[in-house]
Amino acid sequence: MIYLDNQATTPLAPEAREAMLRHLDGPDGSAFANPHSPHRMGRMAAAAVEAAREKVAALFPSGGRVIFTGNACEAINLAMRGAQIEGGIAISAIEHAAVKDTAKVLGDPEVIPVDSEGCVDPRTNLPSGVGLVCVMQVNNEIGTVQPVDQLADQAHAAGALFLCDAVQGAGKVAPPEKADMIAVSAHKIYGPKGIGALWVRDGVELTPQITGGLQEGLRSGTLSPALVAGFGVAAQLANERMEEDREHARALWDRALELFDDWQVNGSLTARNHANLSIRRDGLDVARLMSTCRNVMFSAGSACASGSGKPSHVLKAIGLSDAEAKSTIRLGWGRYTSAEELEAAARDIKAAVKEQELWV
Ligand code: PLP
Repeated sequence: MIYLDNQATTPLAPEAREAMLRHLDGPDGSAFANPHSPHRMGRMAAAAVEAAREKVAALFPSGGRVIFTGNACEAINLAMRGAQIEGGIAISAIEHAAVKDTAKVLGDPEVIPVDSEGCVDPRTNLPSGVGLVCVMQVNNEIGTVQPVDQLADQAHAAGALFLCDAVQGAGKVAPPEKADMIAVSAHKIYGPKGIGALWVRDGVELTPQITGGLQEGLRSGTLSPALVAGFGVAAQLANERMEEDREHARALWDRALELFDDWQVNGSLTARNHANLSIRRDGLDVARLMSTCRNVMFSAGSACASGSGKPSHVLKAIGLSDAEAKSTIRLGWGRYTSAEELEAAARDIKAAVKEQELWV
């Protein structure tokens, strides 16, 4: 099987797995302690959590604190529901459901449009009377990189806080320096599923959303040292290997553009994450393609949107028709994808498409 769905999740880095196993078992089976217990074993577990927190903190700007959460959805919910703001919420038109659906529950959000490449204009006039602006760093469906620093400046000038969903940007692009809150997820950077983090700038106050011990200060629940340790090592690798991972992704991107040269690319060709390719082909039956290419793991639009039957709101926001949106596939490679795998996947996909087109 060939895995080309790295925006949905990434495989666990062997180094992160190693670190997790050490915390599941320990050399003498003594690593199970609760990191919030005051005894010696508890303090050893807490020390491991704090060492990992420092590694995760390196994914963010300085001058803030890291709160571990169950995933990025929870981090985003804590930020949006917990922010002590006056006024409404503005979100970009291409936010992940974690932001989009939370904003809807909290009120009637103002929507900041994107252009046909999926970019928010950095000079855009933010709606007035807004207390929180949410714009993601890198889009999960089409890979567009947003001018989040300029947008954060604008939000601040308007007296609003700025939340950046950096789930798809962490380890790929520099952190959003000017955001007030940043959400990330371990399983998108070769760490384990079941843990994320919210970074909160010093001075920004949040109201806890999960009560019952407040082990994380703002969030309750016993931390898992194994998940935290895996996240820490994954974050450290993401920082150390950023350039190498980026170059690898770029080489695969260049090859993919050659392999799919008769498809249309969705999103910007320049302001983008080069590990993501969203492409479409007139008349393509994506569901049939996915069932024919059972050895290639890829996505129709985004993993969250595919299966819903509705055309993706991201593809609609960049101006695609329903038919164009529905004839889109997303290929996402990563650190462990080889050029041979990409070539083999392209062969399978193109053969299946040819077969479809013969019968039209
Ligand atoms: N934001 C973006 C851009 C994502 O791609 C995802 C996951 O697909 C999330 C948020 C939610 O992350 P998690 O799975 O950690 O809740």
